[in-house]
Amino acid sequence: MSLESLIGNTIRPDVREVKSYHVQDPSGYIKLDAMENPYHLHQALRQELGQRLADVAINRYPPSYDGLRRRIAASLGVPAGYDVLLGNGSDELISIMATACARQDRRAVLLAPVPAFVMFQRSAQFAGMDFVGVPLNDDFSLDLPAMLAAIAEHKPALVFLAYPNNPTGNLFDTAAVEQILAALGDTGLAVLDEAYEPFAQQSFMPRLPEFDNLIVMRTLSKLGLAGIRLGYMSAAPALLAEFDKVRPPYNVNVMTQAAAEFALDHLDILNEQAALLRQQRTELSQALAALPGVTVYPSAANFILIRVADADTTHTKLLAHKILIKNLSKMHSVLTNCLRITVSTPEENAAFLDALKASLAD
Ligand SMILES: *Cc1c(COP(=O)(O)O)cnc(C)c1O
Repeated sequence: MSLESLIGNTIRPDVREVKSYHVQDPSGYIKLDAMENPYHLHQALRQELGQRLADVAINRYPPSYDGLRRRIAASLGVPAGYDVLLGNGSDELISIMATACARQDRRAVLLAPVPAFVMFQRSAQFAGMDFVGVPLNDDFSLDLPAMLAAIAEHKPALVFLAYPNNPTGNLFDTAAVEQILAALGDTGLAVLDEAYEPFAQQSFMPRLPEFDNLIVMRTLSKLGLAGIRLGYMSAAPALLAEFDKVRPPYNVNVMTQAAAEFALDHLDILNEQAALLRQQRTELSQALAALPGVTVYPSAANFILIRVADADTTHTKLLAHKILIKNLSKMHSVLTNCLRITVSTPEENAAFLDALKASLAD
């Protein structure tokens, strides 16, 4: 028996062809590649969290997360009468939606503007949906005529719009989003992925009652809890009930539930950190814009997109300076020579700026 033919006979060809999602080992680096919150918890809070986690019944399956759901809905701006579905990160929610909409009897399409968050395409593929990407305009705005034409042609069951978009950092025009919702009507759902809502401070969440086909998805990851993996989404209750059937039972583990309750008790601290990062975003953007040969794009997120003369070289030199950022140059033609930098503490931002200046100079 050969392992090669065994894999060929069992694993799907499209799965065999893709590479695993690569997570770079960050040891020794200043980590500005993954939009994490750079701040640590103070000692007293760590002890409180430690105590709460110690009290968790890890011998039991997670109890229903009704309490946590209600708290999230009440404290994070979900409209009255709307519930939330929780996921092991919003990544899991994306695949739950794709799994629920992929069908055996006919082609089902997930559509998104590109470049976009890579998990939209990956989740569509693995669930068995066709992915249709509609290129953004050169200024990263939605190409609305192209979006509407693609919606008419492909009748997508799901349209994903990251608001603000990752990796470009901009918020799409409200009227354009409204036109997409109208064009989808009762044939498609629009998912507004608001992972960066703490930094954008603009949201479609309050508008859920206006649109039956609107889904708003968020996460605690970028706010400061990327490690616990907790995403949430809201939509018309009947729609959420359908997605809930696809959700793996016990998908939010007891440690995550306890850590999320703890975070909600201290939401003010996380919100203050988001405010600091918004301030740092302004300062870092200005400092970058002052550098010759660097184009800075406006950002409503906790990262900044820049364009340089030679992104590959700059990226390599920054790595030598022990700075980890994301090189997007090969991701899509509108991103040629673009780099994405997570906004961090004043100290880390200064270290990055120094390294960037040195990298651009020599
Ligand atoms: C980071 C990111 C996510 C991932 O969120 P998790 O909750 O950590 O899985 C989702 N959407 C966008 C647009 C992101 O940038």
